[in-house]
Amino acid sequence: MRDILFKNALVFDGTGAPPATGDVLVEDGRVRAVGGGLPASAHRIVAADGLALMPGIIDSHTHFDAQITWDPYVRPSPALGVTTAVIGNCGFTIAPCKSKDRELTMRNLTQVEGMSLEVLRQGIAWDFETFPEYLAQLRRRGSAVNIAAYVGHSGVRTFVMGQDAPKRVASDSEISQMQAIVREAMEAGAAGFATSTSPAHNGEGGLPMPSRLADEREMRALVMAMAESGRGVYMLTKGGHTSISFLESLAADSGRPVMIAALLHSGTNPQAVFDDLDAIAAANKRGHRLVGQVSCCPLTMDFTMLSPYPVEGLQSWKPALGLHGDALMAVLANRSFRDGVRAELASSAKFRLFNGEWDKVQVVETAFPVNASHEQQTIAQIARAEQRDPLDVMLDLALSEDLRTVFTAQLLNSDEEAVARMLNHPNSIVSLSDAGAHLTFFNDAGFGLHLIGHWARELGTMSISEAIRRLTQQPAQAFGMRGRGLIRAGYAADLLLFDPGTVGRSSKHRVFDLPAGGQRLTTDAIGVHGVWVNGQQVADENGLRDSAPLAGELLTSFAA
Ligand SMILES: [Zn+2]
Repeated sequence: MRDILFKNALVFDGTGAPPATGDVLVEDGRVRAVGGGLPASAHRIVAADGLALMPGIIDSHTHFDAQITWDPYVRPSPALGVTTAVIGNCGFTIAPCKSKDRELTMRNLTQVEGMSLEVLRQGIAWDFETFPEYLAQLRRRGSAVNIAAYVGHSGVRTFVMGQDAPKRVASDSEISQMQAIVREAMEAGAAGFATSTSPAHNGEGGLPMPSRLADEREMRALVMAMAESGRGVYMLTKGGHTSISFLESLAADSGRPVMIAALLHSGTNPQAVFDDLDAIAAANKRGHRLVGQVSCCPLTMDFTMLSPYPVEGLQSWKPALGLHGDALMAVLANRSFRDGVRAELASSAKFRLFNGEWDKVQVVETAFPVNASHEQQTIAQIARAEQRDPLDVMLDLALSEDLRTVFTAQLLNSDEEAVARMLNHPNSIVSLSDAGAHLTFFNDAGFGLHLIGHWARELGTMSISEAIRRLTQQPAQAFGMRGRGLIRAGYAADLLLFDPGTVGRSSKHRVFDLPAGGQRLTTDAIGVHGVWVNGQQVADENGLRDSAPLAGELLTSFAA
């Protein structure tokens, strides 16, 4: 393969050390040398003068499992500087999956990922049943970025228990069948085992995602099966009832790191996330590897009442879950249903996505011109003006428009002082882009550019070097990704060339490029000049290149 010489770049090597101006020589997909005095000629010379060069961003929390089967470019991540993505987070994988369970698996994903069933039906290429077969498909078809894949608990549970997976506790024999699948996946090269106990994660018909039915015995058995391989990360999105001390006991027994999502700051319970981080820090002092996934983006979601993700985790919302059409409209109009929701929102909770902050819910788009004056108004504003209850305002407006009104809610992580403390916490990892999921709700695939531009450059929460370390070396070490995450001789040439004076992400906008014409939200890069994966350029200053190479590698060999 031909060589590339980056001349006069401000090189951030990923260790957190201050940058140094110099040249970087790339050969055969790897960094050959870093510094001054390198050969003056190369097949291609990139005059970096004034621009910064860093290792590519490692996105440790994505859900590209389905999308990657029809879009090997995993848009929009490569254009946003991401060169490695970890898939299968929260355990929502499409492998393993028996052919008879495909429809059920897609229906579950529709609910948790914010993609229409039609998108998934037309989009997913099902050339596999087992996890090793899925990895073989990924390897065969290639991808624009490097991919590491968890084996997912909900997929494993559905494979063994079928329709019963979201309904009951598993028997001993079912648990041992699940263990065998986890062992087989680790042997094939899974990055670890992922699960969710979060009440926000519901599937088809409003049933919980299957992993939520696991008892502690099953959870422990599967983590221990993963650990037999001597490697692997145990990842979970934690419900309020899952204690850090239980997770610490799993880390202690298995000797494996535990990655805990989703640590987001809530204005109504501002201490909760710091209690979790303190408990994680205490566990680390006892020698147990726990790390908390935090986000550098405010959690803002667009939604309609056809799929109102922010409220679907409420106990009182249960009667509406899984309903469609007239049946759904009838429940939303029902007085006692609404009273139940109001009562729950008024009660205290350890963790809740939406907490009745009506001044943070806005009407984005109305379906009928008669309501257009409400666009950009908050529900609180409308309620005050009309002297009505805010829940009634939101539901009545939606009902009058066949549930097509688009709302946006600023849910969590909007207190910048608190988020800054979380981002700098020694036991946190900056993550949670959720790229590939919640496609119609939000898009944080540009989280890395946002960390560097907004938090480091604009707010000075951390140095640019430290922001880069948190996006590169730290996640590479957390997963044992050998030879990645640094600009160093012998390391893979996963590189991001950018302007440190302008780097950031654009505001979100809607595009209609999914299979079956489905829509998603996306963001563009600002200040990115080029992205290379294993020495091949996949994006430039205009974004993903036309016919960009599928330069990514499927990562299946991790350090212990
Ligand atoms: Zn997730």
